[in-house]
Amino acid sequence: MSDYKRQITIQSDLEFKKITDDIIKVGNKLYSRGLLYATSGNISSVLKYDPLELAITASGVDKGNMDAKNVLIVDSSGEVIEGNGKPSAETLLHLAVIRNMKAKSIIHTHSIWSTILSRRYLSEGFVELNGYEMLKALEGNTTHNENEILPVFENSQDMVELSKKVSKYLIEHPKSHGFLLSGHGLYTWGKNLSEAMRSLEAIEFLLEIRGREISLER
Ligand SMILES: [Zn+2]
Repeated sequence: MSDYKRQITIQSDLEFKKITDDIIKVGNKLYSRGLLYATSGNISSVLKYDPLELAITASGVDKGNMDAKNVLIVDSSGEVIEGNGKPSAETLLHLAVIRNMKAKSIIHTHSIWSTILSRRYLSEGFVELNGYEMLKALEGNTTHNENEILPVFENSQDMVELSKKVSKYLIEHPKSHGFLLSGHGLYTWGKNLSEAMRSLEAIEFLLEIRGREISLER
């Protein structure tokens, strides 16, 4: 357990309850759309920045059937400060995004199209998306001609190393909207859970389009 004791007040408890309810709703929605099968993926949202308190889904939880006890609060090193359950090893990637981007909420999916395309584009190191109206759904994009680069990192179980690689990339590319892990899935984020959800839906849509286009070319 962390040495940091969370200061519980009525307001912080209400805030945690609201964020927990929102995380459960997002989990249900994404599970029902086949983006979070077999307890995969995770969803997080910042409760407080200084010191950091991050609400995040616990490891091994069925995202289609969550309740409040499946959401933990972790600190800036990923240690649980409230709740029973184990945080996912991938909590370090959520923390890397929060540290380096102006993001409050993060969604990570293991979808079919992100898994297929992350393997196909691993050797290039990125998926380039251009010319789709849906690009305008991503924060800051104003035209279908935006050149959206989705980097692909080689999957690893060494989350410390992987989070260092991801952090380095995000610092150098502050306008990024997401990244892929090869054969694994997608990470994306937003200023709140609604924006993270919009980004997730847009990128998943674009990846499916790209995948289907490649299939039609054969
Ligand atoms: Zn994952």
